[in-house]
Amino acid sequence: MPKFDIIVIGAGHAGIEAAHIAAKMGAKVLLVTSHVDLIGQMSCNPAIGGVAKGNIVREIGALGGLMADLIDQAGIHFRMLNSSKGSAVWGPRAQADRLLYRDLARRALKKHQNITIFQAMAAKLDVSTEKILAVTMDSGEIIATKAVILTAGTFLNGTIHIGLNTFAGGRMGEPSASGLTKSICALGITSGRLRTSSPPRIDGRSVDYSRLTVQRGDADPWPFSFFTRRKLHNKIVCWVVKTNTTTHQHILQNMDRSLQYTGKIQSAGPRYCPSIEDKVVRFGERGGHVLYLEPETRSGCELYLNGFSTGLPCDVQEKMVASMEGLERARIVRPGYGIEYDYFQPLQLKPSLESRIVPGLFFAGQVNGTSGYEEAACQGLMAGINAVLALRGEKPVVLGRDTSYVGVLIDDLVTKGTDEPYRMFTSRAEHRLLLRQDNCDERLMPIARSLGTITQTQYDKRQRFWDKKKRTEEWLGGIRVTPEQYGKMGIGTISQPGIAGELLRRPEVEIKELLIACELNVGCEQCVGNNDNTDTLIPEQSAQQTSAVCSCLVTQFDRFLALGVESEIKYKGFVKKQLKEIEKLHRLEETQIPDDFCYNVPGLLTESQEKLRRICPNTLGQASRIGGITPADISVLAMFLLKAKNKQVKND
Ligand SMILES: Cc1cc2nc3c(=O)[nH]c(=O)nc-3n(C[C@H](O)[C@H](O)[C@H](O)COP(=O)(O)OP(=O)(O)OC[C@H]3O[C@@H](n4cnc5c(N)ncnc54)[C@H](O)[C@@H]3O)c2cc1C
Repeated sequence: MPKFDIIVIGAGHAGIEAAHIAAKMGAKVLLVTSHVDLIGQMSCNPAIGGVAKGNIVREIGALGGLMADLIDQAGIHFRMLNSSKGSAVWGPRAQADRLLYRDLARRALKKHQNITIFQAMAAKLDVSTEKILAVTMDSGEIIATKAVILTAGTFLNGTIHIGLNTFAGGRMGEPSASGLTKSICALGITSGRLRTSSPPRIDGRSVDYSRLTVQRGDADPWPFSFFTRRKLHNKIVCWVVKTNTTTHQHILQNMDRSLQYTGKIQSAGPRYCPSIEDKVVRFGERGGHVLYLEPETRSGCELYLNGFSTGLPCDVQEKMVASMEGLERARIVRPGYGIEYDYFQPLQLKPSLESRIVPGLFFAGQVNGTSGYEEAACQGLMAGINAVLALRGEKPVVLGRDTSYVGVLIDDLVTKGTDEPYRMFTSRAEHRLLLRQDNCDERLMPIARSLGTITQTQYDKRQRFWDKKKRTEEWLGGIRVTPEQYGKMGIGTISQPGIAGELLRRPEVEIKELLIACELNVGCEQCVGNNDNTDTLIPEQSAQQTSAVCSCLVTQFDRFLALGVESEIKYKGFVKKQLKEIEKLHRLEETQIPDDFCYNVPGLLTESQEKLRRICPNTLGQASRIGGITPADISVLAMFLLKAKNKQVKND
């Protein structure tokens, strides 16, 4: 085989993003996977997104990645979570047809001439001093490369367990990867063990749906990708199921048949995605735990029992399932199982996801201790981008905590490390009012455009939308609302006329209702044509508060524009405050710490010195986020770095 620029090991969610973006940026990529038919396989839940995770998917799309587009195409049930709350906490989620998702992922990769797909098990990294040379496959074939991105997921020394039975496996029905961890640890990289579990799949033909509550998707689904123009449709419904005291008894009576509860495995599991055993032990009865039955595909009949992950034996799983209303006669198609696997401590990575120990070796996804498709995909994307930049000798792209959830995730990993599967939440992001799902495009597309990962046409289209948003906001600042008009909304009264732009700051006031009450129209497609056409902007046409209301005002309302404008107005005050804080923090982020800095700084505690030496932060900002590093430590360091800089300037 010819020499490649980059070898990506693994074609899960991290691997496909890494290969795709690196190829898009011009690199010759070899994507090695243990099974080509399972490219883009969803190992567990056939769903993408959720609160915070959905923002990550939109960020991936804005940066030119694959996931947002794939889920828009493969989605069969779409919901905007938290849509009854403020738009800052909305989270798009969709269930996918898992077979279609896989097929689309493979097709997307096939389109790239720069990607070669190869089915093999990578067994060893060949590294000479300071340089990646090649990857050796289990067949003995040695393939030369300049860089490697490792995205092997749960496969490294993967051990599956069902009850007290254990056997080797990377995922149910697939072999585990042995050898690779040893070869990587021999380079001085530290590995650990983590675990997770999956629920049983149920035969949909054996369920009594008449006794279950239906959960429908949104009437008008929101897309994940900023480039999806077509209307999305739900193709299935889901059902709500509940555990009860009998289910819990079966669980508690069989804990001596759980590998985890008998203490035979010690590795940490996902705290925020616990098994049903963990839920019952940690949270008790709670009057039953709510579960969801979710179709896995449109063509098959398997249902995913969401919320019921378990590592208990098959006979116990059967009893647990049959104890629930509607599932009395349910058949299990595939039992739930637990898996334990190797991961590598992300503290040994640079913020670019490149190893600090072996230049040219990047890590992304579950191997960095994260859990979840979205968390994996965004790391794959950034590792792909930074591997290409490293090969070009250019500076890496490191997204700030104030620009994206992707930035928060990677900063958390490389600054704090992780000893348990890491999952994203809104609470992990201190600037979450800025990191909304509606504005990922504005935050990240300028970066994508400069990297060339989105086209000029795509960028211009969004630019027109941002301009339109801004002008609509300004226009609303000049619209007078009378008490009579306000009263029409039925949410309260005002005694004096107000300004639309100001009234919209109130949480209870919605833009659509306000405009209808004022008989104003913004962005109705029928009146103004395509929304992307800025030449016919309604804000300009309506500048004189025309009372001509189009009959399609309610049904055809441009909800993207409405959401964008409303969110900007509602969160303006908070965002302004956050931006001030960010400005202060930027000063810390701009202060670079040299790679070879020894931290032998007078006044710096020995304990702090040790921590800083271990993590090697790139900037004072990153140093300030390391657990146990105090503001006093940062002041001492800042003074020392400033003095050193001044001294150098004098000498120069
Ligand atoms: C049983 C189970 C339960 C899970 N439960 C949850 C959950 O509840 N919530 C959640 O968010 N996430 C869960 N996950 C995790 C989720 O599946 C992963 O986070 C996500 O798939 C990770 O993506 P990845 O790209 O890092 O790895 P994966 O999707 O695992 O992909 C790894 C890829 O690497 C390939 N590979 C591995 N080793 C080699 C090698 N040596 N050579 C060549 N190819 C190789 C594999 O073939 C595969 O293509 C679960 C996973 C499993 C297996």
